[in-house]
Order: sequence, then C-alpha cells, then structure tokens
Amino acid sequence: MNRDYPLERVRNFGIIAHIDAGKTTTSERVLFYTGAQHKIGEVHEGETTTDWMEQERERGITITAAAITCFWTKTGEPDKKDTAKKYRFNIIDTPGHIDFTAEVKRSMRVLDGAIVVFDGVAGVEPQSETNWRYADEAKVPRVCFINKLDRTGASFENSYKSILDRLSPKAIRMQIPIGEESAHEGVVDLLAMKAYAFGGDMGENVIEGEIPENLAAAAKKHRGELVERIVEQDDAAMSAYLEGKEPPVEELKAILRKAVIANEIFPVYCGSALKNRGVQLVLDAVVDYLPSPLDLPPATGTNPKTGEPAERHASDDEPFCALAFKLQTDPFVGALTFFRVYSGTLSAGSYVYNSTVGAKERVGRIVRLQADKREEVQQVFAGEIAAAVGLKETKTSHTLCDEANPIVLEEIKFPEPVVSLRIEPKTKADQEKMGIALRKLADEDPTFRVTTDEETAETIISGMGELHLEILVDRMKREFNVTADVGKPQVAYRETILGSAETEGKYIKQTGGRGQYGHVKIRMKKLEPLVEGAKIAKNVTREDHFEFINNIKGGVVPQEYIPAVEKGVREAMARGILAGFPVVDVSVDLYDGSYHEVDSSEIAFKIAASMAFRDAAQKAKPVILEPIMRVEVVVPEQFMGDITGSLSGKRGAIEGMEDRGMNKAVHAKVPLSEMFGYTTTLRSMTEGRGSMTMEFDHYDVVPTNVAADIIASRK
Ligand code: GDP
Repeated sequence: MNRDYPLERVRNFGIIAHIDAGKTTTSERVLFYTGAQHKIGEVHEGETTTDWMEQERERGITITAAAITCFWTKTGEPDKKDTAKKYRFNIIDTPGHIDFTAEVKRSMRVLDGAIVVFDGVAGVEPQSETNWRYADEAKVPRVCFINKLDRTGASFENSYKSILDRLSPKAIRMQIPIGEESAHEGVVDLLAMKAYAFGGDMGENVIEGEIPENLAAAAKKHRGELVERIVEQDDAAMSAYLEGKEPPVEELKAILRKAVIANEIFPVYCGSALKNRGVQLVLDAVVDYLPSPLDLPPATGTNPKTGEPAERHASDDEPFCALAFKLQTDPFVGALTFFRVYSGTLSAGSYVYNSTVGAKERVGRIVRLQADKREEVQQVFAGEIAAAVGLKETKTSHTLCDEANPIVLEEIKFPEPVVSLRIEPKTKADQEKMGIALRKLADEDPTFRVTTDEETAETIISGMGELHLEILVDRMKREFNVTADVGKPQVAYRETILGSAETEGKYIKQTGGRGQYGHVKIRMKKLEPLVEGAKIAKNVTREDHFEFINNIKGGVVPQEYIPAVEKGVREAMARGILAGFPVVDVSVDLYDGSYHEVDSSEIAFKIAASMAFRDAAQKAKPVILEPIMRVEVVVPEQFMGDITGSLSGKRGAIEGMEDRGMNKAVHAKVPLSEMFGYTTTLRSMTEGRGSMTMEFDHYDVVPTNVAADIIASRK
C-alpha cells in the first residue's frame, strides 16, 4: 500500500496558550473551518470536541493530549473536495494548566510546530512564558496569534511588545488589526498589503479588500520592517534589497519559511477567535511557515544492541520507528496508544517491537481521530500521528520499532512531583480497585507517582500540584468507582547529604544453629552531575538521583551478595535519615567487607548495608530539601506593598516587578510549604482583584529552624 498524499502536505502542530487565552475557542474554529465539524459548541457549555472527559467539561480545561486529524485548503485557492488533495493537519492537544507539565512536555516532543495563542488584553502571561521555554527546549517553530482583539482593553501593540520583551525579539508582526475592542473588524496582511474581513455566520467567508486609508501609513511602515527582517535572513535577497530591488512576495515567503523552521523568526498574527476573525489566515501561515515532517532533522536515539547512536529520517523506506506519547481511554474504542511515526510504516494486525522494555506487541487496530469520527486505517506512514488499539506493555515515552532494526529514541524528561497526599480506601473492595486505578493512572502520567508509607502502610500519591492531584483523585472516583478518604496536600520533601563519610555496617549473629553474617564498608558522598558525554563504568549503577559503585576486589564480598547490598542501601534511602523523606543525590561506594562460608546470606548483607547507610548518612551532614516555586502575582498597584510584604513573610525572595497592563506583576521564589491556600489569602487581600500562578523551580535546603519543626512534626 502507498500513502495517499505527499508528506510535504502534512503539518503536525499544537495550539498552546495560557489558560483562558482562547485555545479551546481557537481549536473549535480550526475544526469548523477545516470542515470537520459543522456546529460550534460554546465553551462554557463544555461542548467542545477535544474536551470530552466529563470533568474537563466541568472545569472547562483541557487535560488530555489527544491528536485530531483535519484537512485544509488555503484561503483563495479553489476548494478541494478530495481530502487527499488538501493539507493534512494533525493537531496535538496541549493542556493550558501549569500542573500538567508532563502533558505539555510530551506534546512538545511530538509536534513539529505550534500556534501560540495570546490574550490581546493580558499579552504574555506566566504560562505563555513557561510554554515558550519548553518550546525553546524542544526547538519547536512557532507562529503567534494575538487573540481577543475585540475585548475591551485589548491592544495589539501592547501584546506584541510583551512578546518581544518577554519571549523573543525574533517575533515580527505579519499583520496589523483593523480596529480594536468593539471596533475590531479584520486584519491587514503586511506581505500581501491587503485587508481582510470575515463574512457569514461563522466568519467562513474571507473577504479580501483594500487597506483602509487611516491604516495605509502604518501598514507601509510595518511592512518595511517585516521585509527588512526577512531579507536579513538571506544574503542574495539582502544585496538585491540594498540595491533597491525588493524580492517578490513568493520569494520573501520562501525565505521566511526557512527562518521560521530554523527558529530565527516568529511571525505574529492577530484577530478574534470568538468573533470569527483571523483564524483562517493563521491556518494559511501553518501551511506556509510551519515545517512538514520532511523539513525536520532526523529523529535520534541509540541502538539498544550496540549502544551506538542511531537516527531515522522521515521516509517510508526506512525501518519503522515511532514514539508512544499518550495513553488514553476512548469511550468508543477503548484503550488507545497515541504514537508519532518518525520513519517507516506500520500495518494493523502486525507485530511491533517495544525497544524500551524489549517486548513484542501486537497492533490490533490503528485509528485516526477526527473531530466527529474515528477512522480506522490499515497502515500508517512516516510523519503521521495515529493511535493503536491492543498494545499491552507500551507506556508514555516508549519507542516502538522494527525488531530487526531496533532503536530507542531519546526519552522525554519529566520533572519530579512536589505535592503528595495520603489516600485511604473506604472498604476492602475499594482497596483492590484503588490499586488497579492508581497503577493505570500512573502509567498514563509520568509525573504522577504512587508509593506506600513504609511505617503506616498507607498509600501516598504525588504530583505536580494541588489541582493535578485533585483531578486524578476525581478520575479514580469516577472512572474506577473507588471510594476513598483523601488527606490534605503535603509538600513532597526530600533528604540529601552535603558532606561525605565512610563507615562499616556489620550484621552478625552467631549463637547456636545457623547464624547471620553480613559485613560491608562503604564511602558515601554527594552525587555529582554527570559530565556531558561521560561513559558510565561497568561496575557502576547510575540513575538520576543515585549511584552505586561496586569496588569489591578479590571477592571479599562475594558477587552473589552485591545486589543485596545495593538493595539494602536503596531501602534505607527510601526510609530517610532525618524525618523519613526519601533520600536523593547520593553516591555510595562499596569498597570492602567480609563474609562467612556458612552464615552469610542475602538478608544479612542487606541489613548490614542498610545499617552502614544510616550511619554514614548521619555523619555526612544530612539536610531536608523542599520544593521552591516560581510565583507570579498580578495585582492593581495599590496592593503591591501588601503583596511583596506577604511574600517576603513567607520566606520568599522577590525577584522583580513590572507593569502588566493596568496592573503590576511581582515575581518571587517561595517555598511550596508556605504557599498552600495562598490563592484564598490573595483574594481577600486584594478584594478579589489579584491573580497568581505558580510553578516548580528547584529543590533547596530547608533552613535549620524550619527543618527542626518538620522533624518534630514527623515524630
Ligand atoms: P482556553 O482556556 O485557552 O481554552 O480558552 P477558551 O477558548 O476556553 O476561552 C476562554 C474564554 O475567553 C471563553 O469565555 C471564551 O468565550 C473567551 N474567548 C475566547 N476567544 C475570545 C475572543 O477572541 N474574544 C473574546 N471576547 N472572548 C474570547
């Protein structure tokens, strides 16, 4: 079977935004204009296409990262009835809320480009900055859309300036608005030097016209800037331009396309999704400037057999390789594994190799989700996004490939969870259901963890924020019918050491019968970050937060007991040193010890290792670590003093302030433990006029007096 459309007509992209900027509304319009959907659901009624989960409806936020396929014909071109002749859009949904970092990160990894939506009143908001950073990390080409220009207080200039100041000086306006606030009517395209208005009930008729007189001068000036920025990207065009010969529009567009794909220019568009103005021109920009899979560098990874680097190009002729980026339960089809194909093809009913875990998987069916239907496909090709039914072992971020040509693609790195809470099933029956439910949810979401308190045997769940956990608990109750009592959110503290120590651990019992004999000597120090490109020696196990070095010479501790020693150390780490929080970032070097022919056993060595760890850790300056959050509070000026005062009182470090429209924005780093319930405090302090966002920044050592309180409260 061959592909039914050329790869250069595919665009895999996401629509990303600060919550409330209008992502859902914009997505709705995209689905409408691409013909996938004929009725537009109002957001407040929760009838949107991507928000199918019940609780998403209630909360009005998009949590899931479903991929939707739709088809587009560019404005001004004759409508192509046959979808195979159109541009194929695979839109990867990204969540707006900061707590869903994992979702945002993993979608960034599989999308090739993005439309970034901004609120034309607020301009750049904290989540826009966070998303922009993630997109920078993943080198995702972007076009910007300044939305809501019809709203009172909207300003294209201010929003545009906030993008330049706070996100990137590489942004450049492609349009200027015709009117703002209630006078907003359309946009001027600076390359074409045409005006556009949008007729029909849903703005589906794009009407091209001449630029209104009052905007002629501004359009000319801004076009000059735009053309200059474009020709700067190309030496030949630049020399021609300097000689007074402006390249034709088609050539300018070609140069701009290259620059956008190289992350050298971010084109800025504007309009109002709600009032149906401007979205079609942004879709044209997706076609014109965002990359097709062919424009991207090859996917890179390692060959698991040889350990050598490997790469795959976007070609159907290369061996199959894909990244699973999302597990989702579809109410109609069942459990779906969404994957992005980097190379080769995959057929329904065939087998695929999961190289991350080394398992062969049968692909039952392959489906593509469209706004209004689930299309079953026989085969998927390089560059596509689809979902498989029937995979059992495959989780988020696993690689699927051809068994004969294995590759493990680079993993998606996720941040560590910072908030945790205790959860207790109401009945015995719930106990079992809860175990299954939590395991499933953790499989879907790598920033959600489930652990058991060693002492109380209670279940503890951890995640990225209060909302994150609240939603997961909600899903557990609804989707799995588990009833449970849920504790208060707690800070996920950790422990570590600042110094180093050397010690021995002996577990010896030799009175009558068979005895016990385990004896180890260890050195412990702080784990140093790996130097880039460094090879890990054969005798070392290394993970993100732990390293174990086996330096035993001459079998003084027999090889068969070494895994037990490592296990003993790990168990002691999980139990903590000062207050029972998990220990991170230590390197343990087992360098000596002894054994007994008869009495030695795995258990004896495990206990000896745990004892040695505890002793060494006590001597190696143990400390408690706490998550420090990056906080941004936006308030009217008169409340500034109160806000900075209250944040400082919370052990916060104020890092800066700036104007944000009519308000002031305060940036601070504050320990998470001080921030629970701050939204309520803020509301009452500012008569409901302040708003706040917060995001994990880093872990830091807890001051001694605070640590003493934490330790006391855990006794
Ligand atoms: P999301 O949280 O980014 O998905 O944002 P939504 O699309 O749900 O929009 C948030 C609110 O802003 C909703 O009440 C929308 O009706 C409204 N909204 C979205 N786009 C526009 C727009 O262009 N103009 C105006 N005035 N309101 C809009």
